[in-house]
Amino acid sequence: MSETLREDLRAGETLGFQTEVSKLLHLMIHSLYSNQEIFLRELVSNAADATDKLRFAALDQPDLLEQDSELGIWIDFDAEAHTVTLRDNGIGMSREEIVSNLGTIARSGTAEFMRHLSGDQQKDAHLIGQFGVGFYSAFVVAESVDVYSRRAGLAADQGVFWSSRGEGEFTVGQLDRAARGTEIVLHLREDAYGFADAYRLRGIIHKYAEHIGVPVRMLQQFPAEGEEASYEVVNQASALWTRPRSEIKDEEYIAFYKHVAHDFSDPLTWSHNKVEGKLEYTSLLYVPGKAPYDLFNREAPKGLKLYVQRVFIMDQAEQFLPLYLRFIKGIVDSNDLPLNVSREILQSSPATEAMRSALTKRVLDMLAKLAESEPEKYATLWLTFGAVLKEGVVEDQANQEKLAGLFRFVSSRDIDAGQSTSLDAYIARMPAEQKGIYYVTAESVQAGIKSPHMEIFRKKDVEVLVMHERIDEWMMSWLHEYQGKKFIHVGKGDLDLGDSVASEELKAQAQEHAGLLERLQKALAEQVAEVKVSARLIDSPACLVVAEGDIGLATRQILEAAGQKLPETKPSLEINLEHALIRRLEQESDEERFAALASVLYGQAALADGVQLRDPSSFVSHLNQLLAQLPV
Ligand code: ADP
Ligand code: MG
Repeated sequence: MSETLREDLRAGETLGFQTEVSKLLHLMIHSLYSNQEIFLRELVSNAADATDKLRFAALDQPDLLEQDSELGIWIDFDAEAHTVTLRDNGIGMSREEIVSNLGTIARSGTAEFMRHLSGDQQKDAHLIGQFGVGFYSAFVVAESVDVYSRRAGLAADQGVFWSSRGEGEFTVGQLDRAARGTEIVLHLREDAYGFADAYRLRGIIHKYAEHIGVPVRMLQQFPAEGEEASYEVVNQASALWTRPRSEIKDEEYIAFYKHVAHDFSDPLTWSHNKVEGKLEYTSLLYVPGKAPYDLFNREAPKGLKLYVQRVFIMDQAEQFLPLYLRFIKGIVDSNDLPLNVSREILQSSPATEAMRSALTKRVLDMLAKLAESEPEKYATLWLTFGAVLKEGVVEDQANQEKLAGLFRFVSSRDIDAGQSTSLDAYIARMPAEQKGIYYVTAESVQAGIKSPHMEIFRKKDVEVLVMHERIDEWMMSWLHEYQGKKFIHVGKGDLDLGDSVASEELKAQAQEHAGLLERLQKALAEQVAEVKVSARLIDSPACLVVAEGDIGLATRQILEAAGQKLPETKPSLEINLEHALIRRLEQESDEERFAALASVLYGQAALADGVQLRDPSSFVSHLNQLLAQLPV
């Protein structure tokens, strides 16, 4: 570097990094050790962002471009001095900006980041970028980093430098700098000397910067004394989405994904479309291969990168997709929105509304296509994002049918194979006379399969879908039909398997055993609304049943524990007249013992349903009272 800069550096002021930054730097240097090359992706990406920002600011203030309107990025290296230098003529930074952008982590995500570091290098590397810590990746290869910058619109004497060894503090000061934009000099660590090499750098840029919208020019080779340095453009330098689909290679789509999504892993699939007509826009949407750490935080930043006529406008434009598609990454480039569009305008613009519904459909079609053509990839997608997609049943009722078609469930038929089934496949297997799509909800697959409600279905070999995720019961209270077939919960309402002989028999049995039903009803008046002869049970003596459309007992408890007020309703108790315990009960003449047996009967039915007993100690004492009477 020139002498003047060095002098300025000495005149600078030394400041401490925010504590989090120091910790972060330390962690990053260690966790990214095996993935050193990503520093270049991060710095090039920042430089590209800086040119985007300048282009956007110049819409209002063309003067900002000064005499230098060909925006770009330049990369130099010096194998002898062991340096790599990145330069851009983008927006640049003022002194305040450099201190706050490079000395603190303004985002609240940092603490989150620290918490999510797993110690697994691959995984940790995957997190970087999601938190806006990209710049510090420079320290993975550099023992010290110097930054020289001048903010567009500021005078040449308002230049600024920043320098740090990444060890707790940095120096910052003023400098004269004619060139607008930012220059970053990396003084490589010994183990990273190999990066000061044309071949190596070009390879990495091809990998990460091919699609970036500005030219990246690289020094061809280090100039000899008195020689003029010559540069060549090493990327395509046209925004990827503006090129025709047929000309874009998969590798390019994948590299672009890594750039927009700040992700190291490949996307599962993507969809690139140009729409012409009343609305004109291009979209490039990706399904990530992995879930972000904050997938279930509905407040977390999300959304597409928005461009208007190829000018970058904003990150995380969340207005273009519904919340349940928050895992989709990508860009949308509109020809209809004004360049000065704000989040507020987006919110109320009919163009946004129309694009949102078209993009939603686009995503759902993309998922359906993947399910059809690459079921294995789709299975990964479903495992990763299925629970989020399920939110769509409630959020986006217009697309319920489409969404339900994408859902996959565990089936009672192939529990052992661990396969899941689509509703279409279920319907295709359904006997013509079957009344609807049977399902059970439970805390786990095991609990669902073993539920007393399943006994008759198992005996008759009727296929049942086992829904074992928390969201399922809530979702199913909004999803009533698919392809004209009703959903029927095996544990709710009166069971009608379409067997008229059996139902006549049931009526006769109820009459014959009316005395028992009445006694039980009296003994359990507090707990149950009604006692009935069951059509569901084969092995268990009793089970609890709520009305069709009512929420299940276990879910009710969870909601009530969370403070929700629900209308008070009681379940019915269904009993299995064939069971020895019920026969024993019927013959019991001692009222006190009858009451104890009834209480145990109710308690076990509740437990089998995943319900916590209101009064476990009385259940236990009744049980013990009965056990104590066993003959020795
Ligand atoms: P992110 O890019 O996710 O915001 P980084 O750590 O990569 O996080 O960069 C931090 C901030 O530093 C950027 O948001 C930007 O404001 C500023 N910055 C970094 N590099 C440049 C650059 N080349 N030109 C202008 N500003 C930059
Ligand atoms: Mg960055």
